[in-house]
Amino acid sequence: MIKFDYNKKNAWCVWCKRTENPHPDFNEPIPTKVFLSKKRRKIELCLSCYEIEKNLSNEANQDFYKFLDDRFEKLLMLDKHEKILMNV
Ligand SMILES: [Zn+2]
Repeated sequence: MIKFDYNKKNAWCVWCKRTENPHPDFNEPIPTKVFLSKKRRKIELCLSCYEIEKNLSNEANQDFYKFLDDRFEKLLMLDKHEKILMNV
């Protein structure tokens, strides 16, 4: 079981861009975890995005960490998030 960081300062999910827990009962930062991708990018994901990614990579029969890179590269092309790259 992967441990997520609760109450992390400046928590920010790279995929869904959330910074706060979407659950209305919780007024706190979104639980996230920083994953180190195959190409050694630091990719911060929230709990729900992680579960989606994990299932997708399982279905595609791909390594989760490589899957993150593929996704991230697509995201870069779509959003041109050079800022994310610079932080790595
Ligand atoms: Zn997310």
